[in-house]
Amino acid sequence: DQGLGSWPTRRARSTPDSTAVVHGERTLGYAELRDRVHALANGLRGHRLGRGDRIAYLGPNHPAFLETMFASGALGAVFVPLNTRLAIAELAFMLEDCGAEVLVHERRHTETARALRQRLPRLRLIAVNGDEAPEEDLESLIAASPADRVDEPVAHEDTAFILYTSGTTGRPKGARISHGNAVWNALNVVVDVDLTSTEVTLINAPLFHSAALGMTCLPTLLKGGTVVLEESFDVDTTFDLVERLRITLVFGVPTMFEALSRSPRWPEADLSSLRFPLCGGAPVPEELIRRYGERGLPLMQGYGMTEASPGVLLLSAADSPSRIGCAGKPAFFSDVRLEKPDGTAPSPGEPGEILVAGPNVVDGYWRRPEATADSFTDDGWFRSGDVASVDDEGFHRVVDRLKDMFVSGGENVYPAEIEAVLHEHPAVAEAAVVGMPDPTWGEVGKAVVVARSGSEPDSAELTGFLAERLGRYKVPRGVDLVERLPRSATGKVDKNALRREHT
Ligand code: AMP
Ligand code: MG
Repeated sequence: DQGLGSWPTRRARSTPDSTAVVHGERTLGYAELRDRVHALANGLRGHRLGRGDRIAYLGPNHPAFLETMFASGALGAVFVPLNTRLAIAELAFMLEDCGAEVLVHERRHTETARALRQRLPRLRLIAVNGDEAPEEDLESLIAASPADRVDEPVAHEDTAFILYTSGTTGRPKGARISHGNAVWNALNVVVDVDLTSTEVTLINAPLFHSAALGMTCLPTLLKGGTVVLEESFDVDTTFDLVERLRITLVFGVPTMFEALSRSPRWPEADLSSLRFPLCGGAPVPEELIRRYGERGLPLMQGYGMTEASPGVLLLSAADSPSRIGCAGKPAFFSDVRLEKPDGTAPSPGEPGEILVAGPNVVDGYWRRPEATADSFTDDGWFRSGDVASVDDEGFHRVVDRLKDMFVSGGENVYPAEIEAVLHEHPAVAEAAVVGMPDPTWGEVGKAVVVARSGSEPDSAELTGFLAERLGRYKVPRGVDLVERLPRSATGKVDKNALRREHT
């Protein structure tokens, strides 16, 4: 059986003494990781968790994230990592939607976890490093359970992860990433990035997003390299770790690479070990690529999405200097095609929607047949809602987006979700949200609101209302009140006009 849950056993068989994980002062070798994963799997089985059950996780990057992920895999259960930046109402929706049995949570999320259990009484909590009764504690569970091998047979089609992703309509949907999807994506990265077992990979972007998880963490562990887990991104810590541990691979959104290059340490820092600085998740400014290029660091670029587990296009370090602004070529085992609105293929240089197929592309969303039918063609191509052109050598350039979305500091924001919450406010008659350029975050939201007659909501009142219901990164930076929203001939709000009028 080759499912995700078997990886620690297989790695420990080949390289038991190599370091798998570094977290602060702590290091875990592959044999130790295997034993802890098996003990945790036995412990969870003792709680009557097994095949198909959903095991959710709430917390920053931590070895317990990986242990719970592999233990879930070994049990044939489904691992559901949650975004720590979301509001309680949003997390409760996801836990209920996937029907999670258990929530494993890091200590600083104890209060949130308890609030979630109040809403979902069936939910059992397991704390990571928790010492407060009455919750079960992950460390005690591992200590009290035998480390006999657990490896429930799974098929490649069986679901390994549910990763929630928002969209332009309705509530977030859970992308169903199978064991096979995760394996093939990791193989794509190993082949295309040319990873070796000597990789020392810094993980300082959140593991609950598909990018760091799929593009750097899982491929490194597959090859037997070392992952260095940092709970969040910090400029000075990043420089320290790169220099001290000789980091070779790191994934970051443009905001992170931008911050490093603006630091006073940038000119002097020793970044010579960084073979694979990989930037993606949002459009990468060309100026940023040039700045790194001048420093002798060719930024690799990646384009992908949760539904592709996530790698789709990759620009290698070798091609980076001569292909500034390109997102590269399709991943080795994946295929990309472009489609014009009339369904035909564009000629070289002409734009078309990106469609993706391959063994890393999910077969649909968790219990959402309509959303699945809308997003996938009958023969399994995923419609990205992004627009690209391709040159005659096969290099793709992502040029536009069909879907109403913007990216703020690496988090995707769907205006429809914010507009729906604004409409729940009694003083709001109409609302529209747009992303505005921002030097730090790439884009930040701006809300434009028409008040109901007789009411005059102020900006602080409306942003407070949103902050109670949505993750902070979704709350617009400001709210402008207007008499009416600009509309196109068909009656749709003209967002381009809004962006021009509300700078
Ligand atoms: P998610 O589903 O949260 O993983 O986000 C995927 C979306 O992020 C894609 O559909 C794109 O709109 C955007 N995205 C990811 N990588 C890039 C990139 N390199 N350039 C432009 N947009 C990107
Ligand atoms: Mg998405």
